[in-house]
Amino acid sequence: MYNPASRVAEEFIDHQEILDTLKYAEENKHNEALITELIEKAKLRKGLSHREASVLLECDIEEKNQEIYALAEQIKKDFYGNRIVMFAPLYLSNYCVNGCTYCPYHLKNKHIPRKKLTQEEVRREVIALQDMGHKRLALEAGEDPVNNPIEYILECIDTIYSIKHKNGEIRRVNVNIAATTVENYRKLKDAGIGTYILFQETYHKESYLELHPTGPKHDYAYHTEAMDRAMEGGIDDVGIGVLFGLDKYRYEFAGLLMHAEHLEAVWGVGPHTISVPRLRNADDIDINSFTNGISDDIFAKIVAMIRIAVPYTGMIISTRESQECRERVLHLGVSQISGGSKTSVGGYADGEEEEVSSEQFEVSDTRTLDEVVKWLMEMDYVPSFCTACYREGRTGDRFMSLCKSGQIQNCCHPNALMTLKEYLVDYASEETKAIGDKLIEKEITTIPKEKVRQIVIENLKAIEEDNRRDFRF
Ligand code: SAM
Repeated sequence: MYNPASRVAEEFIDHQEILDTLKYAEENKHNEALITELIEKAKLRKGLSHREASVLLECDIEEKNQEIYALAEQIKKDFYGNRIVMFAPLYLSNYCVNGCTYCPYHLKNKHIPRKKLTQEEVRREVIALQDMGHKRLALEAGEDPVNNPIEYILECIDTIYSIKHKNGEIRRVNVNIAATTVENYRKLKDAGIGTYILFQETYHKESYLELHPTGPKHDYAYHTEAMDRAMEGGIDDVGIGVLFGLDKYRYEFAGLLMHAEHLEAVWGVGPHTISVPRLRNADDIDINSFTNGISDDIFAKIVAMIRIAVPYTGMIISTRESQECRERVLHLGVSQISGGSKTSVGGYADGEEEEVSSEQFEVSDTRTLDEVVKWLMEMDYVPSFCTACYREGRTGDRFMSLCKSGQIQNCCHPNALMTLKEYLVDYASEETKAIGDKLIEKEITTIPKEKVRQIVIENLKAIEEDNRRDFRF
């Protein structure tokens, strides 16, 4: 039955294959010879299969786990250097016809204020986001064909790209909306989106049906096969994820990797990103009524294992997680984080008052973007506002070949430094700017090619002194 190249959900996420995988992992969790062999294989940086990775996830030999963490950290450094890409979510509408039992936007919630941004309100939100320094957004919306049809989403994308406020602009719009048709994915592609993001929530079909009792999202196959339709519609950067806390994490972990293997088998390119959201309290949602929550330790292990199982895939963590937890997983493999996020519709321009009621979930990390940027730099990370790959057409397998060619240090690193410089000049507090300028000075020396280094130095000067913007390799 199990067939990663099949287009049928229950064949590429085959329940029995997951059960067999979990049994195999349980049986081998103390098999030191196999575990050593798998860690050696992972060191080749070609990834691991869902079965192999599940064994390492299950391994409870302390010394081997330390090796896994060290390897994850090393792979992260080799592929992503010390750059961390910054983004913010933008909530367009919380109208929703689905019945998701963990999300306060579910149809039966009659007291949450329903809101949908007008184009003027989109403008205000985007200006607020630009004034913070953001260049990359993830659009969020409930599923409601009447209130939030695809035309509405497309109109918002056009509005967002058209706004140029002071030196600000949104250069990449990623989209996290409900599963849709190939035709609609094509329209999103034509509107110039970056990544299409859709969380599976859970790969366990039976739980999926219970957690999504009503509405179009109830259709497990339609949801699970969405990324194939997105690829068919021409979107070659897709972002997957599960909502940890809904079902058992071992099952989800295997499912997530099988989904990645499926995309690779059918489309020749795996997911561009993997997100690792954990369930949070929200308006009428109490996480205590869900029994599959995971500890911070398990969460860290999952992140480390994703890093070594799919080394070329970016990993995203949101403000659902605390500063402390984010710090821990940054070292283990996360490459993209949000900062200064609001999860309410209109939250950026409206400020605190409006925020409480329409938010999707409680944010743990409530720091401003400036604070997050400063914190990253104090740990020697380079916050990057780069959007160059997507704008230069380096998406899908072309992005992957850039990673594999080892040119990242001559391309991504300079782009990160130049976009960080823009941030420092236009938006940073004095303290953050001072730390950032020092960091940039130090980081320039790590660019291998002399010629590239010279160009970067000139461009940095032009950003600071001539108000020039948007340099990129
Ligand atoms: N409506 C779209 C869909 O159905 O896929 C996606 C947008 S939704 C705003 C983004 C994600 O938020 C969902 O996919 C879900 O994983 C997550 N989410 C929902 N309720 C949550 C909660 N209580 N805590 C944390 N994340 C939650």
